[in-house]
Amino acid sequence: MTAVSTEIPQRRELVTELPGPRSRELAERRSAAVAAGVGSVMPVYVARAGGGIVEDVDGNRLIDLGSGIAVTSVGSAAPRVVEGVRQQVGESTHTCFMVTPYEGYVDVCEKLAEVTPGDHAKKSALFNSGAEAVENAVKIARYATGRQAVVAVDHAYHGRTNLTMALTAKAMPYKKGFGPFASDVYRVPTSYPFRDPEGMTGEQAAQRAILAADKAIGADQIAAVIIEPIQGEGGFIVPAPGFLSALAAWCKDNGIVFIADEVQSGFCRTGAWFASDHEDVVPDLVTTAKGIAGGLPLAAVTGRAELMDAVHGGGLGGTYGGNPVACAAALGAIETMEAEDLAGRAREIETIIGDRLRELQATNPAIGDVRGRGAMMAVEVVKPGTKEPDAELTAAAAKRCHEQGVIALTCGTYGNVLRLLPPLVISDDLLREGLDVLADALSPKG
Ligand SMILES: *Cc1c(COP(=O)(O)O)cnc(C)c1O
Repeated sequence: MTAVSTEIPQRRELVTELPGPRSRELAERRSAAVAAGVGSVMPVYVARAGGGIVEDVDGNRLIDLGSGIAVTSVGSAAPRVVEGVRQQVGESTHTCFMVTPYEGYVDVCEKLAEVTPGDHAKKSALFNSGAEAVENAVKIARYATGRQAVVAVDHAYHGRTNLTMALTAKAMPYKKGFGPFASDVYRVPTSYPFRDPEGMTGEQAAQRAILAADKAIGADQIAAVIIEPIQGEGGFIVPAPGFLSALAAWCKDNGIVFIADEVQSGFCRTGAWFASDHEDVVPDLVTTAKGIAGGLPLAAVTGRAELMDAVHGGGLGGTYGGNPVACAAALGAIETMEAEDLAGRAREIETIIGDRLRELQATNPAIGDVRGRGAMMAVEVVKPGTKEPDAELTAAAAKRCHEQGVIALTCGTYGNVLRLLPPLVISDDLLREGLDVLADALSPKG
């Protein structure tokens, strides 16, 4: 097996200024050819990536604390993914599952039934992106219930298509100027322990959400509640214990489909196969994408067989959904997670990051909160002595990380969260080095 990823030396190394001359050349070509609305966090152009390193076209090696936004959990160009893709791409690249089906699609759906929460009968349908999976989960829930209203929560992120923009909470950069949005979408409060009233329990936060939904819509009108079990773009918000299970129980009592959007939190990222597992929550439908296929575009809706089968034949699909090359990649990625116990590795990463960030919090008053699970960890940055968000320091700290050759991402409704999403295959040494750079970048002297 050609282990592409391990060929890249696992060391941070800056050999030019950032961005280097080749990257600057490409940036110029880009500005003439690529739409300005498509952004990039760092203006360095990639030559190759693997393990915990992204190598740019000038030969600089950066520590990857982003995994291409929680996608390359098994590493970029992970050996089993590369091998599966190589073989499949030489056999067939596309026939369309809706025209002439193939085994890889069935294999992936069988795997999804195995690893997603709950031991009930499950079925899946495959798509291309997280947003498309969310759209289809809502279609299925509406069809199965005969109801229309969909409930999302504060700080939610579900994608950039029309319906998923409506479900997404934050205007900039996701929604501003792109309306009108899909109707019959309602927003209720979530559980945000750092910003909720002191001592509010998960159960109380759930009652607050339920009351809002009941009063604004009426439980018997609601097709689905959709929620990220750990919120991603909205700020890596881990709800108080008991919140998700109380919400799921209310859905069950009222015939409402409970959709867990695990697009970012799924596939070992949080130290379990799915973030729902930590709370023993069994969603009716689960949406997945990002980490599912080691970097190839694939997404899924997996759920209770009777719900998934409610839709008429031909009612679900899409030209590319479950492309055979993407399916081969997913099988390689899932096999890697199993063989290398990447959920266990994510828990080790949680310990390394958590210990370091809490140590930092003790001496740096700008760190208001340290939270997350597994390799989905974050710090919320505030003005010292308050809970007032400090988006400026957050952006400045991310920029300092970038200048030092560390790929760090921000998020949060208030833009004041630094999030860490390293590949699960990063070495302890690289991770610790990245954390050192981050710690320096967050220090008041900078
Ligand atoms: C990224 C993300 C999406 C959208 O996925 P795309 O593949 O970008 O369409 C949906 N939900 C969550 C929770 C996400 O993090």
